[in-house]
Amino acid sequence: MLVKNLNNLPRDILRLFSQIGKIAQENNCRVFVVGGVIRDLYLGRENFDFDIIVEGDGIALAKILADKFKAKLVDHEQFCTAALFMPNGIKIDIATARKETYEHPGALPKVTPGSIEDDLLRRDFSINAMAASLNPEDFGELIDFSDGLNDLKKKVIRVLHDLSFIDDPTRILRAIRFEQRLKFRIEDHSLKLIKEALKHHAFETIKPPRIWRELILILYEKSPKKYFMRIAGVCDLRFIHPKLRLNRDTLRLFDAIDKLLVSYEKLYPHNEPVENWFLYFMALTDALKRSEIKYLAERFNLKKDQRDRLYSFKNLNRNFFNFLGKNNLQPSQVYVMLEHLSYETILILRAKSENKIIKKRIDDFLNIYDKVKLSINGDYLAELGVSLDSGFKKILDKIFYKKLDGELQTKEEEIEYARKLIDNQ
Ligand code: ATP
Repeated sequence: MLVKNLNNLPRDILRLFSQIGKIAQENNCRVFVVGGVIRDLYLGRENFDFDIIVEGDGIALAKILADKFKAKLVDHEQFCTAALFMPNGIKIDIATARKETYEHPGALPKVTPGSIEDDLLRRDFSINAMAASLNPEDFGELIDFSDGLNDLKKKVIRVLHDLSFIDDPTRILRAIRFEQRLKFRIEDHSLKLIKEALKHHAFETIKPPRIWRELILILYEKSPKKYFMRIAGVCDLRFIHPKLRLNRDTLRLFDAIDKLLVSYEKLYPHNEPVENWFLYFMALTDALKRSEIKYLAERFNLKKDQRDRLYSFKNLNRNFFNFLGKNNLQPSQVYVMLEHLSYETILILRAKSENKIIKKRIDDFLNIYDKVKLSINGDYLAELGVSLDSGFKKILDKIFYKKLDGELQTKEEEIEYARKLIDNQ
């Protein structure tokens, strides 16, 4: 049976696949496109993450293909994988078909070369364990050893063997991610296996950064609230942090972020893009105390800029909110309060706040104040005789604040005010 909708792939991809199949044939290999792409072809979902599996030497074939297509090759010989970057921008991952064995629960698998069947049977779920052959004799033929197509029709997520979640507990989070994304259901027996794995403290057998990677993938999903509700229901959230719960405020914050992100591009079209996933992470951990966030940051080995953003949000205290919500603040006062915060922090403040004045101030900051530019710069001040060490920045800031407050309109007024400040120094 041919893979459904294969012909819906862009023409240049199909041509490329057929060329890859011919070259593989000439080199006595069998090649297959596998995994998410096949699943998503059946579901009519766009997916341009092309994973190709080679029965034979994947790296050797990748080198031949790179030569032929004048593609850039990045190979990881120790893992028998390579990435091909085609001149037209398409990226293809190529790997040798492999067999995996787990020496103990949660360990990284021991890998040896294998057949396409071995390679598909080591995968997480039946719906991700389908492939299409690319060799000319059976181009487009569906390979489905695990009844994945039937599970796609039944809309279920099913593991391929009973030890799957014990071998690799990250699959618990992957199961929930696919279930929620595709609006499928984790099949009953697989759900039972999850519960059993959890009874054996499955998450404790793997290193926290592996959990973190899967959490990020969930945070990247559109509207991740329901994913975390499901995780909380199935696993509890204690494997992330012992104190983490989904309370009403957290859920409300997730919804508020969804809403804000829809309008963000419209509301603030010229501002820098924000990392949406990080906003949701801030929401998820909002109820934790500073010390608890610190523990989480250590445990998942968060990067410095991620820690900084989390801590700067946590550091905002009641005084900050009281002040930002006061009547009659000048734009420059609002600016000074917000300018050192990351966009993610400002947006989560906006999502969290129920105070209309604060919301309006943040909108004005993003829409108006943050785009105001002075007509003069440090060079002008130098021409006026200001030396570098006499506080260029301080003077420019004062001029800028005055401009924000609407008291300077023209370049001449900026220069005149600069002169006044210098004279008064
Ligand atoms: P997405 O649409 O989120 O990119 P995907 O199915 O392409 O989903 P990837 O994480 O890119 O998923 O992984 C590619 C393939 O590798 C999957 O389809 C699956 O077959 C396999 N895979 C990934 N992670 C695991 C795992 N932990 N255990 C077994 N197989 C896995």
